[in-house]
Amino acid sequence: MTSSPFALLTLDGDDVARLLPMRDCIALMADTLASLADGHGVLPLRTVIPLPDAAGWLYTMPAFAAAPPALAVKLVTIFPANHGGPLPSHQGVLILFDAGDGRPVALIDATEVTAIRTAAVSAVATGALAREDATELALLGAGVQARAHLEAIPLVRPVRRVRVWSRNAGRTLAFAERMARRLAFPIEAVPDARAAVEGAHIVCTVTSAGAPVLRGEWLAPGAHVNAIGASTPATREVDTATIRRARVYVDRRAAALAEAGDLLIPIAEGVITTAHIVAEIGDVIRGTADGRSGPADVTLFKSLGLAIEDAAAAHLLYQRALADPARPIVHLPPRSPQ
Ligand code: NDP
Repeated sequence: MTSSPFALLTLDGDDVARLLPMRDCIALMADTLASLADGHGVLPLRTVIPLPDAAGWLYTMPAFAAAPPALAVKLVTIFPANHGGPLPSHQGVLILFDAGDGRPVALIDATEVTAIRTAAVSAVATGALAREDATELALLGAGVQARAHLEAIPLVRPVRRVRVWSRNAGRTLAFAERMARRLAFPIEAVPDARAAVEGAHIVCTVTSAGAPVLRGEWLAPGAHVNAIGASTPATREVDTATIRRARVYVDRRAAALAEAGDLLIPIAEGVITTAHIVAEIGDVIRGTADGRSGPADVTLFKSLGLAIEDAAAAHLLYQRALADPARPIVHLPPRSPQ
């Protein structure tokens, strides 16, 4: 591997999938979130540029992870209407810089990183909060994140059966059939969200819905919820009853109180206060906050997705790619120092 100061390593989605297996990413995300909760890293809130008529959004997500040092920015667009066509709804690039001298060193496909690291974080939360004997998984949504969560959650709990519901019945059935060919347990497409959720031990909401698809009254005692979609103050996937019933955990308090309609709407309704958030999930991993208090608790992890997760993933991908002599490298034009 060259050490030219102007060498930029590029990794496409296939490289990312090969170099960042889900199991490794789960361990990486647990370390990253614990380190963040320990006060390490620099993580401003992301900026969002909405396009006219809500056709799409551009997110800018910079972060510095302290241990190991990783300086990166993710630029990602969200165009929900892409779903169902040839392009994914989330697309972007992740740029990794050398934290020692500021050189850009890698340009990485952010679509696959986002899919893997988001599901890995949910697996970390599930491992920390769900009952040990959780075997029944419900997925609301049948897109990219549903696929990634179906890969991640069985790595932390002994999943034996999956029910999936999404808005488009044909796409949901196709998803269930496609995934069933890869999995060792049955996956059933069901006609409504309630049928998926009732009796489930773990529920993942992975939709682009702006209004609740999950109702608290459907949840079985002891259920754990990963709420992944809805990342603006005015949109949510879970209703107020879900939040009121649950012991609520977040990836980052500051982000949740700025972006998470799932929590901000019940707060505005006066049903809960900010004190309803028990802890950041990193605190549970570090052992400085409690998880569930008993087998009947309903627990909920609200994920917004943090740039520090992307930075940590980019750093690991870069280290692994350096060991791969076949990796393409782009040589940037040299510049004279001023
Ligand atoms: P996809 O576009 O691949 O899939 C979206 C899914 O949501 C589809 O199954 C779609 O169903 C369903 N859906 C859309 N609208 C509704 C609705 N009104 N009611 C029910 N289902 C609906 O998206 P992803 O899987 O990539 O992302 C899923 C969600 O997770 C998004 O909100 C996304 O922004 C969020 N996300 C969160 C991250 C985090 O870190 N927390 C990271 C990445 C994504 P249909 O086939 O009918 O259109």
